[in-house]
Amino acid sequence: MILPIYIYGSEILRKKCQPVDAASADKEEIRKYVTDMFETMKEAEGVGLAAPQVGRDARILVVDGTDLADTYPALRNFRKAMINPEILEKSAETSLYNEGCLSVPDIHCDVTRPKKITVRYLDENLEEHTEEFDDFAARMIWHEMDHLDGILFTDHVTPIRKKMISSKLHNISKGKVRCAYKAKLGK
Ligand SMILES: [Zn+2]
Repeated sequence: MILPIYIYGSEILRKKCQPVDAASADKEEIRKYVTDMFETMKEAEGVGLAAPQVGRDARILVVDGTDLADTYPALRNFRKAMINPEILEKSAETSLYNEGCLSVPDIHCDVTRPKKITVRYLDENLEEHTEEFDDFAARMIWHEMDHLDGILFTDHVTPIRKKMISSKLHNISKGKVRCAYKAKLGK
């Protein structure tokens, strides 16, 4: 099922999301929700999506870099759902990349992030993994994990860049933006 994507200005995008209680969670419901998230992300031609972007206060994210494998061969099999992800380690070395976000249509900004991270997370079957990711994969995960804490990529940009995009952001928050996908401005 395709879910509407909440855009900049929606309150849910600024929430620190709740962890999923793995002991009491309905596994079937989680798996179904993750499937909907993958479907919604694909339809919107995104490479990552976090639960608050589709209106749910929960620490769940999906990433899929497989369509970028021609440019980034390391992403050939990079398609994951992560529940309650935690960064255990991050490299001091960083990289810079021009990011975008399905919740912030038509805006792209350079964002500096650690080049390598180690993440502990539960998959869609609530099984625990600890894995190391680098480069683009690390960036995608970090961007989505930021969403779980109410942080948007535009929060990371330089003050001058922030000034340049402020009127565009204001327009998005008033719903004055065109999206090629089902978008929503709300709580
Ligand atoms: Zn995003």
